[in-house]
Amino acid sequence: MNLLEDTAEYVLPKELPAEDHFATDDEIKIQLIQKHFANIMRILGLDLTDDSLKDTPNRVAKMYVKEAFAGINPANKPDITLFENKYQYNGMLVEKNITLYSYCEHHFVPIIGKAHVAYISSGSVIGLSKINRLVEYYSKRPQVQERLTIQIAEGLKEALSTEDVAVFIDAEHLCVASRGIKDTNSSTVTVHYSGKFQEESYRAQFLTLIK
Ligand SMILES: [Zn+2]
Repeated sequence: MNLLEDTAEYVLPKELPAEDHFATDDEIKIQLIQKHFANIMRILGLDLTDDSLKDTPNRVAKMYVKEAFAGINPANKPDITLFENKYQYNGMLVEKNITLYSYCEHHFVPIIGKAHVAYISSGSVIGLSKINRLVEYYSKRPQVQERLTIQIAEGLKEALSTEDVAVFIDAEHLCVASRGIKDTNSSTVTVHYSGKFQEESYRAQFLTLIK
């Protein structure tokens, strides 16, 4: 049997209209991904009648749609509530060591790290957990760390109506650690500074506070 010919039927069918992915119901996405992931497993030579494997396609499909890649869908963007900065705190607010889980878009394996963000209020204050939620929303996509850093910064600027935002991400890419070069010691740092954080004094204060 010619395997390549045999796999022709595994080519993505046209069930999903390309222009309207976000309108597609999550349950339909899960069913489609489940079907295709089962095919990937079969092509790899796995036995899907095995008790331990038989529900894996469904588990993976649910995980992709509801968790790992939930941030692709704009409907999952967190609602941000702002408070008035009544107490006139006009220093910088730093939230550090935000746990970050994302996926490398080149290999679909995890990126695991920490995000540290800061902003200076322009009159509004954000609920602190909303900063975590924004980081989470942009992380739950197939990503490259550079784009993730910018998206988090832009999301904060938009939410807080301020340009004075800093984002620092230090993350380990499992595609580097577990395969290819297999470097388990390296991590990747990306930074984004805008507004006042482009000034040396603010930047230095931020870097000192996250140490
Ligand atoms: Zn990668």
